[in-house]
Amino acid sequence: MRILKMQSKFLEVFLESLDKFGQLYGPKLKNGVLSYEQLNNISELVLSDDYPMIPIKKLFHPMQFTMMHFNEKGFHPDYSVIEKRVILGVHPCEIHSLLRLDDVFLRDPIDPYYAKLRENSAIIGFSCLPLENHLCLSTDTDIVEEGFDLFFVNLGEFYLVWVGSSLGHDMIYEREEFFDYDVTHDDIQMYIDWRNKRNRMFKKSFEFDSMPDIMELSHDSEVWDFFGDKCLSCGQCSMVCPTCNCYNVIDVFDVTNEITGLRNRVWDSCMFVDYSLVAGGHNFRSSRADRLRLWYGHKLKTFGVDYGRPGCIGCGRCVDTCPVDINVLTVSEALTTKEVPKQ
Ligand code: SF4
Ligand code: SF4
Repeated sequence: MRILKMQSKFLEVFLESLDKFGQLYGPKLKNGVLSYEQLNNISELVLSDDYPMIPIKKLFHPMQFTMMHFNEKGFHPDYSVIEKRVILGVHPCEIHSLLRLDDVFLRDPIDPYYAKLRENSAIIGFSCLPLENHLCLSTDTDIVEEGFDLFFVNLGEFYLVWVGSSLGHDMIYEREEFFDYDVTHDDIQMYIDWRNKRNRMFKKSFEFDSMPDIMELSHDSEVWDFFGDKCLSCGQCSMVCPTCNCYNVIDVFDVTNEITGLRNRVWDSCMFVDYSLVAGGHNFRSSRADRLRLWYGHKLKTFGVDYGRPGCIGCGRCVDTCPVDINVLTVSEALTTKEVPKQ
């Protein structure tokens, strides 16, 4: 993988030039809230240490879209959500989350909507510094070695730029005059110092590596009942978690003329009471404690068993979001110490 150097003063012009590779997307303020959106102008891009509360999955696994149109004779898929895109300002943990979604959606049977959105999207990553609830040092997702076309590390006067794909090389060649191929030992030392300083800035951590074993031993723990009594089944944790990927499909019929219809796909959550409701009225997880055990079991143990890497990428969104303080920190601490938090 090639590493180049770019003076910071060239950044905006360079990013603007990437629009020839696709429609620019990135974090921008929408109604005062940071959100991944289409950029009409590069000045809308917000490069910050904060994250959009709804993660990057919304650009690859949209919250709601029409999958297909059908009638009595057959169906045709609707790929109108697909376009060439360049997504700017993607933090390391978000890139890791896409690699997790790849594990789910690009395995047989491949999800064609997700696959086409991935194929048509360039990822331009950016380094960040930890805020209050960021946990990516614990989950080993604070740096990335794959999953991007270009990755920029901000070292003040200049950026170190990792080139991660042939498309990334094409982007560099477009404005080669901005890049310096002569990265020195001093530059690399600055990067190492930056990483060490950044690592000391993390305020919170959790026992991530031991969680699969602890989850295995905690099936009957009273911790699940304690948190189950508090949980509101609101599903916010699933909406904001970058690796949650469940969805429902809803057919909408029009029978006024000939029978036609469309099939919509919408995000779902295993925290909702009717998620495990089956025909005949049986609910496999009717209690909130059961649903919480499933959710955290999946994040902290079974995703890793199924796909070889854990389902939590340490973004901290569940910590920021859950209205009753149920999150990877409180759950892992309660399971590790076997003490439920004080009310
Ligand atoms: S754990 Fe928190 S965010 Fe998730 S469903 Fe329960 S109350 Fe809502
Ligand atoms: S479980 Fe929480 S910290 Fe982990 S990826 Fe999901 S929202 Fe982020």
